[in-house]
Formats: sequence, C-alpha cells, structure tokens
Amino acid sequence: MSITTPFQVLLYYKYFPIEDPQQYVADHRALCEELDLRGRVLVAKEGLNGTLSGKRSATEHYIATMQGCEATHDVDFKIDPADGHVFEKLSIKARDEIVTLGLPNEEDIDPNQTTGVYLSPKEFYAAMQDPNAVVLDGRNDYEWQLGRFQDALCPDVGNFRDFPEWIRKHRADLEGKRILTYCTGGIRCEKLSGFLLQEGFTNVSQLHGGIVTYGRDEEIQGRDFDGQCYVFDQRVGVPVNTANPKTISTCAHCGEPCDRYRNCGYKPCNAQFFCCESCEDVKGRFCHESCCSNVVGNTSVEK
Ligand SMILES: [Zn+2]
Ligand SMILES: [Zn+2]
Repeated sequence: MSITTPFQVLLYYKYFPIEDPQQYVADHRALCEELDLRGRVLVAKEGLNGTLSGKRSATEHYIATMQGCEATHDVDFKIDPADGHVFEKLSIKARDEIVTLGLPNEEDIDPNQTTGVYLSPKEFYAAMQDPNAVVLDGRNDYEWQLGRFQDALCPDVGNFRDFPEWIRKHRADLEGKRILTYCTGGIRCEKLSGFLLQEGFTNVSQLHGGIVTYGRDEEIQGRDFDGQCYVFDQRVGVPVNTANPKTISTCAHCGEPCDRYRNCGYKPCNAQFFCCESCEDVKGRFCHESCCSNVVGNTSVEK
C-alpha cells in the first residue's frame, strides 16, 4: 500500500564503465534540467551515483529514460514519496570515483571484480542471528548516531576514506568472523566488502540495496534497526523499522529519546544536534546555551 504524493525522491547507483564522464555529465544535466529535478549526481569512469527529487511524473520520466539506455537499463531505483523537493538545487559533477576509499590506484576496488556476497533483507536478517556474525556499519559516525542495527560494530570515522586504516587497526575484532556490512543504499558496501576480501578476510557479505531496501521489505519491515536512517538531504532522517522501532538518540538539552536532527541556529556554529520539540520551543534552535546567548546578544544590540 503506497501513498500517492506529488513528489518522489530517487536514490540509485551503478558501477559500470563510463568512458567520457564529462560528456555524460553534460547530457545528464540537460535531462535533469528539462525535468526540473534537483539533487546530486556523481559521474566517474567507474559508474554513477545519484539522489534526485522531483515531481512524480518527472521522476518517472527520468527512470524510464535510464531504463531505455543499454548501460543503465537494470539500475535499482529506491523511491521515496515526498511532499516537495528535498534538495535546494541540482548538482551534477564528474569525479575520479563515485565512492572513495582513498586507496592507491593499484589497490583500488572494482566491485565488478571483487565484492562481498549480496544478501537480501531476509538473508541479512537471518545472517545477523548467526552467533559468529559481526555486523559492520559502513557509514560515518554522524550517520550511525541517528540509527543503526542493534549490536553493530560502528567505526568512529568521519569519512569513508578512513575505513582502510580503521579496518587494519581493528583486525582482531573481525578475524575469523562472518562479516556482514551495511550502508544507506548499498554503494559503499560494494567497495568496503571488496576491500575486506582484499585484506584477506574470507567470509564477507553485504546488505544488497542497503538500509533503505531493508526498511522496504514487506516481511522484514526494518526489524532490529534502531533509530532512523541518515540521508543527505533536507529530510536528514527517514524511518526504517516498522516491526520493532526504537529511538536511540537523545535530546541535547533534556536527554529524552529524540531523533529530530537540527542545525544550530548560531550560524558560525551550525552544528547538527538532536533537539526535542518542547526544548526547541523553550530554548530555541541552539546546540548549547553559549550559542543561544551569542544570537540573543546580537539581536538585543540591533534593537
Ligand atoms: Zn529536549
Ligand atoms: Zn551551536
């Protein structure tokens, strides 16, 4: 049962050779502008990674266009309903890689050659019950702070390129285990699981389609994922678990369970923090009292 909303948000990727990324960017920009889509698309010689919002008919037209191309006919689109755009503008760029582990060229991972075993949501849920399994979060710290699988190993990294070093330092936590990796939509796990194999780990699997697909599965319904899934757009977080949901983050002011991510209203700070509705009403949208007094001070001077 899906709700009909005027807009949709698309999330997708595919690793496949693109000979001329600059040309691909130019063509793609023309298509997205014509359809009034907004969001971010990265294009590299290794493939394509995008997230776009637009009117329902425009996103459907976009999907149909992609499916009409030989190279992208089988792209897996994750589609979310939305009431409006979730991005302010459109950005389409050519990059060296669509996902960067920061490895030297000769060590870089081609997921079409080396990647972990793909697990469906149902298979991933079953694998998590294995006492020898270790569930590895493949995202950054500010992402898993909003939500993560129960008992997942969550590396304290602020950037994906910090993973190789983290894994080499924490070999002992992973050695001999059945490693299960997950990320938002699956794109990072393609390389992360490949890297683990390259480092000599032998039993490596990945959640195919990521948390987003896991939350959509009608049977699994996001079971045992606590909190929300962090997304890189104005929504910040999206719900995952309708089976046994739980909030794990807490309000920065009162400490009550809370998953409302806010940006501090003191512009030079701009920190992301959790803030419940009642604290925001009383204290304003500030991460700390010092930020609040900065702004309130300025305002009174202006008056
Ligand atoms: Zn509060
Ligand atoms: Zn602040």
